[in-house]
Amino acid sequence: MQQTDPTPTARPAAAPTGLSPSRAGDFMTCPLLYRLRVIDRLPEPPSAAATRGTLVHAVLERLFDHPPADRTPERARGLLAPQWERLLGERPELAELFPDEPAKLAGWLGDAEQLVEKWFRLEDPTRLHPVERELYVQTALASGLLLRGYIDRVDVAPSGEVRLVDYKTGRAPSRDFEGKAMFQMKFYALVVWRWKGVLPKRLQLVYLGGGGDVVTYDPDEADLLAVERKLEALWEAISAAVASGEFPATRNRLCDWCDHKASCPEFGGTPPPYPLPLATLTNPRKES
Ligand code: SF4
Repeated sequence: MQQTDPTPTARPAAAPTGLSPSRAGDFMTCPLLYRLRVIDRLPEPPSAAATRGTLVHAVLERLFDHPPADRTPERARGLLAPQWERLLGERPELAELFPDEPAKLAGWLGDAEQLVEKWFRLEDPTRLHPVERELYVQTALASGLLLRGYIDRVDVAPSGEVRLVDYKTGRAPSRDFEGKAMFQMKFYALVVWRWKGVLPKRLQLVYLGGGGDVVTYDPDEADLLAVERKLEALWEAISAAVASGEFPATRNRLCDWCDHKASCPEFGGTPPPYPLPLATLTNPRKES
């Protein structure tokens, strides 16, 4: 989803106060990336791809404001321009993406439109009755570790069974990376389970990129307990890194899109001086 964490902007450095799926993924992928985003809070310029994802999410969210029979492709297409205007109003810096380039903006909006249209081939919104959209969830585990994030859509069946849904504007991953993608959904399921005492019946990833795909998984308690243990271990590793200031750069397949190469030794850059007092935050969860 698009709002798991806001895009980092220039803000004072701070110790981490909890985990979201995105930032957990950052640390697992590259500890230095996690540091630069969460602790140094280095700004990142808006990207056309991420902003298109935000726009598509906004359209799919707002479509459910309308009665089922009105949730048509035409209605969704009609939401694109007003939602883009709303985003521009909230984040004027997005105008930098298309400076005096109306053709580029039109092409970008056309790509967003195609993603929205593809969604209608994967799900039928006239038959869906979400109880929540863009739901902010947060819970503290027994250890005190704070987990948080946004769930794109929550559906509840007449039987009471809960389905958590997340939209992805990229293409579905290969089988090798499916588990990594579903980790985010298991994270949300754990938060809902610990927060509301309800074990979601189904987790669903809706991929709008490529040919479009829907990937589902039905978790059980053992799955979520395993995720809980993994997150606790991850938080211990983050706590140790915060205390030591050691966040190694780890080359990975996402480096090509990383905004922080100038601060990354793997690309000849130098990280800024570590902004936190060393060894003073052996248990940063207490700071949350
Ligand atoms: S360029 Fe790659 S290795 Fe360097 S900080 Fe970014 S993700 Fe990490």
